[in-house]
Amino acid sequence: MNTFTVIFLIALTASFAVQFWLSNRQKKYVLTHRAEVPEAFQNKVSLTDHQKAADYTIEKGRLGEIDGIIGVIVLLAMTLGGGISLAFDFWNSFAFSPLLTGVAAIATVFLVISLLELPSSIYQTFVIEEKYGFNKNTPLQYIKDHLIQLALAIAIGLPLLALMLWFMDSIGTFWWLWAWATLMAFSLLMSRLFPTLIAPLFNKFTPLEDGALKDRIQQLLSRCGFNSQGIFIMDGSRRSGHGNAYFTGLGNNKRIVFFDTLVESLDDAELEAVLAHELGHFKCKHVIKMLLASSVMTLISFAILGWLMNQPWFYSGLGVAEPSHAAALLLFLLVSPVFTVFMQPISAYFQRKFEFEADDFAANHSDATQLITGLVKLYKENASTLTPDPVYSAFHYSHPPAAIRIAHLESRMHAQA
Ligand SMILES: [Zn+2]
Repeated sequence: MNTFTVIFLIALTASFAVQFWLSNRQKKYVLTHRAEVPEAFQNKVSLTDHQKAADYTIEKGRLGEIDGIIGVIVLLAMTLGGGISLAFDFWNSFAFSPLLTGVAAIATVFLVISLLELPSSIYQTFVIEEKYGFNKNTPLQYIKDHLIQLALAIAIGLPLLALMLWFMDSIGTFWWLWAWATLMAFSLLMSRLFPTLIAPLFNKFTPLEDGALKDRIQQLLSRCGFNSQGIFIMDGSRRSGHGNAYFTGLGNNKRIVFFDTLVESLDDAELEAVLAHELGHFKCKHVIKMLLASSVMTLISFAILGWLMNQPWFYSGLGVAEPSHAAALLLFLLVSPVFTVFMQPISAYFQRKFEFEADDFAANHSDATQLITGLVKLYKENASTLTPDPVYSAFHYSHPPAAIRIAHLESRMHAQA
């Protein structure tokens, strides 16, 4: 057996074992704390809501474990099992150009993987979300969404993939610099076009009506010196009862989007505080920092791929007999998560640090008390557990656990008083 095969199998086993161990910790921790609402929330969340959140978390955790097992089997089948070789052999038999063969083989593998992941996605939406009262999706809507996604992948993804393969085939040693620069330019373009061209394919965006809420938000924006291209309500309730608020776009193209479900469950003062938190992410330069970090990571990834694609052991070690640039790109996309999963706690750490900074910003420019009551409502309505396992949340959570986050906000209130 090739040494790289051994390394791959060890990394795959380790990453799976860590994920499984974390998931079990989380389930056990949530179950142990299921009987009682944590002290800090006793007047705010009922025992019924607390237990609903626990059951929902545990069921999603179980499905996540099954997804993990399926993922390992699919990855092994595609690599050492010969799935990738099979896809290339099939398309090679048509004697298309190498570029076209590469695009077709990669697209085929991703299509097969998406189809294999579909049952779990259907179960999540129509069984788990349904059971806890979150699902508003109909089968027709669900199919329509997937067809639009497929059409977008064909219209945008395939040409981009072809361009990347062309760089690999035709530019020489430093193709990866060109590929990286193109991908970065493309993602900047997409973040400009997404709010106006792509998001409306999935949802309806209605400008926020004039009135008390709009006045309030406008005051907050001018207090923080922030320009945006409008405030919109999105019909998130078309698919799910979960609520959220977000910003999209960059530069002068920024839009504020509230899910209709959020506007329904929070009052105006709480919405203002939640928005102030989101503004904090912009004002503390988190968006730019994340963008820079991901562009550096992409550059490093491309450089590594540039080296790997010239190593015969990279192909043979992963079950591909016939090296090609397209096979290298595909193997890299499928296999690199096995190695990078161990970096997850680092990015989660920075994300949580940013969340505290955004909460501080909200406390300074809006009202910490309103943010706390708003957050508690959101935890309750989204059935997010108030008692996650500390190790699991350190690994997976982009937001600080509820109790820690609220204690931090309360300390800000006392500091101000
Ligand atoms: Zn945030």
